Amino acid sequence: MRVPVLLTALFVAVFSREAFVGDQVLRITAKNDKQIMILRELAELENLGLDFWMDPVKVDLPVDIHVPFDSLQDVKSFLLSNEIEYSVMIPDLQDLVDEEQRVMKARSVQPRNTDGYDYANYHTLNEINSFIDMLVAENPNLVSKIVIGQSYEGRPLNVLKFSTGANRPGIWIDTGIHSREWVTQASGTWFAKKIVTDYGRDPALTAILNTMDIFLEIVTNPDGYAYTHTNDRMWRKTRKPNPGSTCVGVDPNRNWDAGFGGSGASNNPCSQTYHGPYANSESEVKSIVDFVKSHGNLKAFVSIHSYSQMLLYPYGYTMSPSNDEAELHELARKAITDLASLYGTRYTYGSIIDTIYKASGTTVDWTYEQGIKYSYTFELRDTGYYGFLLPANQIIPTAQETWLALMTIMQHTKDNLY
Ligand SMILES: [Zn+2]
Repeated sequence: MRVPVLLTALFVAVFSREAFVGDQVLRITAKNDKQIMILRELAELENLGLDFWMDPVKVDLPVDIHVPFDSLQDVKSFLLSNEIEYSVMIPDLQDLVDEEQRVMKARSVQPRNTDGYDYANYHTLNEINSFIDMLVAENPNLVSKIVIGQSYEGRPLNVLKFSTGANRPGIWIDTGIHSREWVTQASGTWFAKKIVTDYGRDPALTAILNTMDIFLEIVTNPDGYAYTHTNDRMWRKTRKPNPGSTCVGVDPNRNWDAGFGGSGASNNPCSQTYHGPYANSESEVKSIVDFVKSHGNLKAFVSIHSYSQMLLYPYGYTMSPSNDEAELHELARKAITDLASLYGTRYTYGSIIDTIYKASGTTVDWTYEQGIKYSYTFELRDTGYYGFLLPANQIIPTAQETWLALMTIMQHTKDNLY
C-alpha cells in the first residue's frame, strides 16, 4: 500500500506546479497611440489570463505578453483584427522553464565553501542562504549577516554587511524584490563573492570599503522566490493574501510611501502592479524602510531588477525633475558606458518616468525623498529574447558587467560624500 500513497504524493507535487506548456510570449511594437490604448484595454481583460512582462507605455517601447495556450487564438485574432503586428518572442514557455530546470539539476552539488559555489547556475532559497552563512563564516572580519525582519511567511530577511570600521556611511544594494527576476538574485550572490575577493586586492573597492559600508540584500522577496521554485516560476509579487480577493500578493515595487497609490500602480489585487492596501503594508518593504531610517546615513541606494537593460533614477511618480537630475543623469551615463565596455551590452538611461513609464510607490523614489541622493534602479539583461528566463550561462557575464556600473556609482558616492 505504501507505493500508491507515495505515487499520489508525487503526482500532487508535480501537478501543483504551474505549467506553461504551449504558452507563448508575444512581442508587440505598437505603431501609434491608438494601438497603445487598445493594448491597455486588452490588459484589463482578466479572463484571458495574460501576464504583461512589459506594459503598453509608448510607441517606441515593446510590449511583451505571456499568453496562456488557451488564450492564444483569441489574442492573436484580437491583434490581427486591430491591425496590431506581433512576433512570437518565446514559442513555448515551458521549453525554457524545462531547460532551466535541467541545467539546475545537472550541476547540483552541495558546495563546501563559497569557492565551490556554482555562480553560473540558478539556486534555491536554501542554497543562497547557506551561501550567505558560508561567506560570513569565511570572512568574519569583513562580512556579517543582519536580519532586518521577517517575510510574511516568516522567513528571515537577510542582509549582508561588508564593513571594515565603525560608524561609516553606507551603500545599499538589493536584488530580487521581484521574485521571478532570477538573474538579479544570482548576480547579487556573485557581487557578494566579488566584494570579499577584491577587498585588499582591488584598490578602488578597497578604498570604498575603507570609507563606507556596503549592505546587500540578495533575496529581497524570499516568499516569492521560494514560490518561483515550488509553484510558479513567473511569480513576481509578495505572497500575502488579499482580504476579499482570491488573488495573492502585492507588488513590492509599488508599495513604498512616495506617490503611493497614484497612477502607475493598480488598485486591483489581481494585478501584477497592485500597490497594496496602504504604503509599507508588505513586511519585505517595511523592514527596509525601518532599516534605512534607523541607519540614517545611507548615501547610495541601488535596487536591481530585470529585464530591459536600463539604468534609472527618480522620479517615477512625477514629471518634475529631481533636484539632482543633472548629476544623476551624468553618473548614469558614465555607469552604463563602463558597463558596456566589457561585452558591449547597451543600456538606456534616464528618469523612470521619462525612460519607461509613470510608476508610483517605487523604491528609489522613496529612498531619494529620504535624502539618499544616489538612488538608482537597474533593469538587467536582456532586452526581450529570454526575458525573465535568461539562461544560466549569462549569469556571470551579466553580473560582471553590472559590477562595473556599480563600482562607478559607489566610487562617485565615495568621492562626493554629502
Ligand atoms: Zn522588477
